[in-house]
Amino acid sequence: MTENLYINNTKEVYDAIVIGSGISGGWAAKEFCERGLKTLMIERGRVVEHRKDYIGENKAPWQQPLRTKVDNLLVKEQHQIQQQCYAFTDATKHFFGNDKDLPYTTEKGTNFTWIRANQLGGKSLLWHRQSYRLGEYDFNANKSDGFGNDWPIRSQDIEKWYSHVEKHAGISGSLDNLENLPDGEFLPPFEMNSPEKALQAKFAELYPQRPLIMGRTAHLTKPTKLHLSQGRVKCQARNECHAGCSFGGYFSTQSSTLPAAAATNNLHIAPNSVVHSLIYDEKTNRVKGVRVIDNDDLTEREYFAKVVFVCASTIGSTQILMNSTSKKFPNGIANSSGVLGHYLMDHNYNAGASGDIEGFEDEIDRGRRPTGLMMPNFYYKPDASRNFLRGYALAGSAYREGWQSLQHQDGLGADYKNKLKQAGKWRFGLYAQGEMLPRFENQMRFHPTLKDKWGMPQIEFDCQFSDNETNMMIDAAQQAEKMLKAVGLKNVSSQVMNGPPGLAIHELGTARMGRDPKNSILNAYNQSHDIPNLFVTDGASFCSSAVQNPSLTFMALTVRAVDYCVKEMNAKRI
Ligand SMILES: Cc1cc2nc3c(=O)[nH]c(=O)nc-3n(C[C@H](O)[C@H](O)[C@H](O)COP(=O)(O)OP(=O)(O)OC[C@H]3O[C@@H](n4cnc5c(N)ncnc54)[C@H](O)[C@@H]3O)c2cc1C
Repeated sequence: MTENLYINNTKEVYDAIVIGSGISGGWAAKEFCERGLKTLMIERGRVVEHRKDYIGENKAPWQQPLRTKVDNLLVKEQHQIQQQCYAFTDATKHFFGNDKDLPYTTEKGTNFTWIRANQLGGKSLLWHRQSYRLGEYDFNANKSDGFGNDWPIRSQDIEKWYSHVEKHAGISGSLDNLENLPDGEFLPPFEMNSPEKALQAKFAELYPQRPLIMGRTAHLTKPTKLHLSQGRVKCQARNECHAGCSFGGYFSTQSSTLPAAAATNNLHIAPNSVVHSLIYDEKTNRVKGVRVIDNDDLTEREYFAKVVFVCASTIGSTQILMNSTSKKFPNGIANSSGVLGHYLMDHNYNAGASGDIEGFEDEIDRGRRPTGLMMPNFYYKPDASRNFLRGYALAGSAYREGWQSLQHQDGLGADYKNKLKQAGKWRFGLYAQGEMLPRFENQMRFHPTLKDKWGMPQIEFDCQFSDNETNMMIDAAQQAEKMLKAVGLKNVSSQVMNGPPGLAIHELGTARMGRDPKNSILNAYNQSHDIPNLFVTDGASFCSSAVQNPSLTFMALTVRAVDYCVKEMNAKRI
């Protein structure tokens, strides 16, 4: 491991700067370091050490003062927005951003719920670890129905990079051989419980085109030598992942990419360093480095490198680009096309249906499996008879009402204790994860006057779901209800909700890839069309949202971009 891994001031010109230490930044750093490049990872937040700093780990609800709930006063002061995330509890709150310090505005635009995790590891510590490849239908979607710009890549361009990251991260799942959802390099899947197996068989009989599969998730169900060499062991199925996992049972920067990068001796990390803007040299048309404001004392410093990878998460990355202005790029660096900040997307979770499963009274949930089931998008082929474009996946799991669900609810005394002892009804639901179309008008921009405490202009969101997404959610609720009734569930009900974008925490777009530099920021390798030594490899680069959870694709795009970048550096084109 590098001596003095963490640095503050340095005059060194690194081979590569990676901004951000989350899922994308962790991969960029690992790949650069393993190719022998001296790499500086810059992170705005504090250091979180694997194991040592998982302060909420192993704390049962009854060991937390308010049984998982967070003190109201603290929520009011610091977490009004973050508390809307389902994973925000007393055991995880320290991994979420402080809303007081991180203001943004929707006063002129529309609502957007922006969930932040600003520390070493970023949201890799908090994510739900669902990991799916995009397939041919996804990369082709914009082209085939004409909505959005064509992705400049197809499945064959990224397949080997998916395999590369899956093997290192460890993704569990079943080989399902589906046309609409490519298989990957999987560790064994988690097991379905009995009602789920019965439902899976019923769906296969009644809806052969709508299979119910086990969720694919970044957990070590059967660690390989490679995983053991990272210091990780088998997932213990505790399902307390959001508090951090000392076993390294799930993939995070801390458990997986950071140890690999640090082992090369090529990594340095500058924590508490809020990247304010990129330093651009107009004469050479290259980015030279970054301007940083110290997270704590607000002093300024600069770091330099031959290439810069911006991996600060979709909105964070675009915020940095937009704040990097010069004579040549008055509206944000690399923005000759004018589309920077536009085509913001998220997934839409606004529909679902659920009901009771009869029978199985002699069965219990086994363990605390950290994933549910998935019904992949069955509307992957365009069909003009529907009143919306694209489609949705449905996710769910069968569980027995009882102590596991009650422990998060209010209650007191003997009545509550008796309730906890009873195993309740089996329930099952299907909940939508719908595609959001890329629209120019859905955007993040800067507020003309408001700034945050580091002097960064505050982001103003102007983003909403359109009729397309609403019609899709109505369909999702109807289909889910119809299917659940058909497979024999009782007391089935469905809902369509009206939540704003953001809360799926799958922010995408705003610095999109594309074939045409006139309407996109990045080329097929996540390299800026305008500036050869500048890359953005996180969700900002997406051309369409597809329906799959996107982070596995951030990983694959990132390692592919590093491979390309290093080859271009060696060929002296960068
Ligand atoms: C509760 C939850 C559940 C989720 N479940 C899933 C799931 O099941 N599957 C899935 O695919 N995705 C899921 N996600 C989303 C997933 O976590 C993100 O897509 C992923 O972490 C994004 O990776 P990233 O590297 O782009 O950004 P992050 O992981 O957010 O990392 C970005 C890093 O950049 C740093 N940074 C930002 N701005 C600056 C700056 N100006 N200067 C320096 N550093 C900066 C941040 O502090 C952060 O550490 C979930 C997220 C949450 C919160």
